[in-house]
Amino acid sequence: MALSGLQIFKLLPKTNCKECGQATCMAFAMQLAAGKAELDQCPYVSDEAKAELGEASAPPVRRVTIGAGDMAVTIGEETVLYRHEKRFEHMPGLGVLISDEMDDAEVDGILEQLSQQEFNYVGQTLRPRVAAVKAADGAALAALAAKADEKAGAALVLVSEDAEALKQAAEPLKDKKPLLYAATESNFDAVSAVAKELDVPFAIKADSLDALADLGQKAVDGDFKEVVLDPSSATLGEVLRDQTLIRRAAVKQTFRPFGFPTIGFPCNMTDDKMQEAVFASTFIAKYAGLVILSDLDPARTMPLLYLAQNIYTDPQRPMQMDQGIYPINDPDENAPILVTTNFSLTYFTVSSEVEASKVPAWLCVMDVEGQSVLTAWAAGKFVADAIAPFLKKSGIEEKAPHKKVTIPGYVAQISGELEEELGEGWQVQVGVREAADIPKYLKQISEN
Ligand code: SF4
Repeated sequence: MALSGLQIFKLLPKTNCKECGQATCMAFAMQLAAGKAELDQCPYVSDEAKAELGEASAPPVRRVTIGAGDMAVTIGEETVLYRHEKRFEHMPGLGVLISDEMDDAEVDGILEQLSQQEFNYVGQTLRPRVAAVKAADGAALAALAAKADEKAGAALVLVSEDAEALKQAAEPLKDKKPLLYAATESNFDAVSAVAKELDVPFAIKADSLDALADLGQKAVDGDFKEVVLDPSSATLGEVLRDQTLIRRAAVKQTFRPFGFPTIGFPCNMTDDKMQEAVFASTFIAKYAGLVILSDLDPARTMPLLYLAQNIYTDPQRPMQMDQGIYPINDPDENAPILVTTNFSLTYFTVSSEVEASKVPAWLCVMDVEGQSVLTAWAAGKFVADAIAPFLKKSGIEEKAPHKKVTIPGYVAQISGELEEELGEGWQVQVGVREAADIPKYLKQISEN
């Protein structure tokens, strides 16, 4: 049964030494209670406390990290079934399958894409990071894994049911924490022994949820913490069912055999690329930790990454920009001044249209706790007596002393009051409502 932060705190050393990364033992206890920390992050917990806290303090879905450096992927550590209950913690890692059945040029092309492909969306860089490497024997698996590491620095999933082959490929790369895929009913002991020896994560795979639960129990009994589950779902319905049942059992019943993140292989489920994207999006929407595709066509990877980002954004914390003045297209002292809010989507929509207009401009972004223009206005945060002091303190007058400022068309009603608040010499212009109309508007006012 889950313990409260206070119950956990009573069992900690209470020295506030900070070695766990938290400022106090109480803060660490709260993190443990929320499933956001692992007990072994505190080196001073007594054996008695460990026995008492033990499993009760572990997150219902264990954290697993594969890969290293910028390409590392951390999954799991989830505590809820629905995002609105709190938030989802770690975006699934998107990856691609390469195999020794492909010719060198094809493998090189995929690895080149994996190393280069990235998308910037509302201030975040999104990219695939995982290479699932499959080969017929240990030597070929080791060679392909080494290549994927060298050319793309990818987080690796080593695909084989031969424990010796997995060991041959994983041993030289063990510091990069490759995922051994997979232990089954027939090779569990051998694959888990390799995982233990090399200190790397491993996946367990079974053809039914009952069989997967049996393997999960063996992993729990063996005190394995970095484990990934594959229920071998073959249809869209099975993906939905299996992923939901696993997550529900983990977070609602604290069923430890299912208390690990999952992996899905849409690449193996269909030859139809669009259908593969549908499978992948279902895995992403329904809890999968790793999703492996057959290629990295940006027409599919981009929307899949955006989907993951949307689902894994904290619903209680709007994505926001820092307050400040953002110069666009190299503005000078005569360039127009625009003002908007610091909701990321607003900023990126407005700034990309200003950029596209090629008209130099100053974009003044005001901190309204990440709300959009109308929401912030309705909440009394993007109103005349708040915008005026922001503009005056922002330093925009030194950069562009003409004192003409454009406000979003949606808050046209505050223009008179804002002009009064700003005082002598200021002129407030009402801009457009839709961002798509910004280029035309900017060209008009810069010609006048
Ligand atoms: S490492 Fe342990 S003793 Fe030190 S602050 Fe963290 S919980 Fe307290």
